[in-house]
Amino acid sequence: MTTKPAAAATLYGYPRQGRNRELKKAVEGYWKGRVGADALHATAADLRAATWRALADAGLDEVPTGDFSYYDHVLDTSVMVGAVPARHAGVDDPLERYFAMARGTQDAPPLEMTKWFDTNYHYLVPELGPDTVFTAHPAKQLTELGEALALGLTARPVLLGPVTYLLLAKPAPGTDAGFQPLTLLDRLLPVYAQILAELRAAGAGWVQLDEPALVQDRTPAELNAAARAYRDLGALADRPQLLVTTYFDRPGEALPVLAEAPVEGIALDFTRPGTLDDLAAVGGLPGKRLVAGVVDGRNVWVNDLSKSLSLLGTLLGLADRVDVAASCSLLHVPLDTAAERDVDPQILRWLAFARQKTAEVVTLARGLSRGVDTIAAALAANHADLASRAASPITRDPEVRARAAAVTGADTRRAQPYHERTVAQRALLGLPALPTTTIGSFPQTPELRTARADLRAGRISHAGYEERIAAEIREVIAFQEKAGLDVLVHGEPERDDMVQYFAEQLTGYLSTRHGWVQSYGTRYVRPPILAGDVSRPEPMTVRWTSYAQSLTSRPVKGMLTGPVTMLAWSFVRDDQPLATTARQVALALRDEVNDLESSGSSIIQVDEPALRETLPLRSADRADYLAWATAAFRLATSGVRPETQIHTHMCYAEFGDVVQAIDDLDADVISLEAARSHMRVARELAAHAYPREAGPGVYDIHSPRVPTPEETTTLLRTALASIPATRLWANPDCGLKTRGWPETRASLENLVTAARRVRAEL
Ligand code: GLN
Ligand code: ZN
Repeated sequence: MTTKPAAAATLYGYPRQGRNRELKKAVEGYWKGRVGADALHATAADLRAATWRALADAGLDEVPTGDFSYYDHVLDTSVMVGAVPARHAGVDDPLERYFAMARGTQDAPPLEMTKWFDTNYHYLVPELGPDTVFTAHPAKQLTELGEALALGLTARPVLLGPVTYLLLAKPAPGTDAGFQPLTLLDRLLPVYAQILAELRAAGAGWVQLDEPALVQDRTPAELNAAARAYRDLGALADRPQLLVTTYFDRPGEALPVLAEAPVEGIALDFTRPGTLDDLAAVGGLPGKRLVAGVVDGRNVWVNDLSKSLSLLGTLLGLADRVDVAASCSLLHVPLDTAAERDVDPQILRWLAFARQKTAEVVTLARGLSRGVDTIAAALAANHADLASRAASPITRDPEVRARAAAVTGADTRRAQPYHERTVAQRALLGLPALPTTTIGSFPQTPELRTARADLRAGRISHAGYEERIAAEIREVIAFQEKAGLDVLVHGEPERDDMVQYFAEQLTGYLSTRHGWVQSYGTRYVRPPILAGDVSRPEPMTVRWTSYAQSLTSRPVKGMLTGPVTMLAWSFVRDDQPLATTARQVALALRDEVNDLESSGSSIIQVDEPALRETLPLRSADRADYLAWATAAFRLATSGVRPETQIHTHMCYAEFGDVVQAIDDLDADVISLEAARSHMRVARELAAHAYPREAGPGVYDIHSPRVPTPEETTTLLRTALASIPATRLWANPDCGLKTRGWPETRASLENLVTAARRVRAEL
């Protein structure tokens, strides 16, 4: 008789919001003064207890604690180690202080917010300086551990690891910009040591330390810091057993460091290529607990259970004990497919959200512990679901596939090179120097939102809704003409979201009703799901664009979302390479671009704000990504005549590392965010001898502030130092949909005034 090893099922974190987004309602209610602090705390405790009970009922052996958050777990970590910026420290009440750091107060701006690795979750960036003093505040961790233990569960507190915490931080305002927060490691470790000791005393057998930053390219000094951190924490006498987790990519050169560290457990992301090779290369983890992240925490597809079991079988030979988990916290997926009543039940079976992924982890752990025959029924059902997905006409549309296979290099190249096209475009458009334009959207007014809600609820007819959109377009065009803008837009009033709007009109995309995922704080998004082959049954934007063009003799830009962004802000397929999906989306967009041209658009903008954010975490993978990403953009935009001007737009201030890729898009004009960074992008473009027309933003649309004509003039003059007047455009940083009309009007009028002033000086 063979005895199977006992494998535990566990997770690193779970969606925080609750079934009906109770957390969002409670936190926002607290902000508005409608919910008291006690009621907020009680709601949160109920949500945590409900989650733990559900996880335990599902068969999870070890539940995570401390992953819950009122706003963000990196912010929680800053509070835990006492890293409160001086400008917020004066707020006495701890909860008020916490939200002051997250959202700012009248006189103290919040912490900066940025993306959590390559996800769409945003964290609050710790601000640290040479004077930072760390102190231990483990109350939140202790409370949540206590709650789970009181339910009779085996609980494992989850902490952001000290190395990742420091690597995610930035120099505090007023500190030398070259200050490296990692130099504070020796000061931070004693605080972690104290927190670990308190968690141990409170009953934690294991504590998890998340170190996802270690999967990125790291310098030898940074790897040394990680080695020192875990040597020191491992050497503590009074501590729980330590599980160090990495995820979002293969561990690479960090794995030898962790393998040597005196910690008891290591968790790795096996959904990424290369992780198994990295593990084999260090000779496995003898004497350690390996937690194998085999269920993908970043997508929404059912796991291939047989494949995972065979991988887990291989891992058994490489560690002392193998446990099963999702690859990362389930924070990044929606809660439960059972809430989706509108999705075809057959397709629903292909999907796994957090609740279904938990069941998969449990099934795999049981199969590994007790043998495959104990999970035979689950395996059979899983086989059937995977087979139904693979054979479905939704995932394989022969026409789409034939068309994608027939794409040639010529399809991704415009008929003439940029320097010839630009001559033809100038002749056709006859624009002045420093042409003025906007990025696409105009204010999404409460009236527009109401109209959309009324349409959904059946309170107004489709025709009634369309008349409201048409009226909005008339107003947007009239304003732009009056303000004197040179290249107009229709204002995007018919779009609530730049990806969702297209996803709803393309085949292959699914929308969910309740598939909420936390983006930041109380903001949740419902990313569409790219489930099948993509095609465009009918034109998507031609009608409103032509209508807008019919109202004016000035050019109105057609406005589309690019293929990379259509992927980046959706859940993508896991059954084919991203490049394949991108090509299908690009072909659908190409039809739209060509139709816009045929219906009279002489300028078409294809937005790619996500081009840089999906850049792979490791530099070795970037060339490949940029090659297919730029090819997809060119495939979408190369079917037009030379005199048709293709614009693109991106919104981030730092992009020195992708200037070459931006050039490879072969767009004629690019607009970029630049106002807050004093035109840094303009200098970066010049440094890379970027040869095309560009509009570095001269109006910061993130704030209701109206820039004066003088400020805008100064920014345009600064831009002129890097970009010649023949190639410079004047535009805002990004779309105006989050702005109100009064400041939009004033700011754009000032922008036109400034452009005219600078033009006159040429
Ligand atoms: N055209 C879009 C808009 O103006 C672009 C949005 C974006 O870059 N995020 O809203
Ligand atoms: Zn933008």
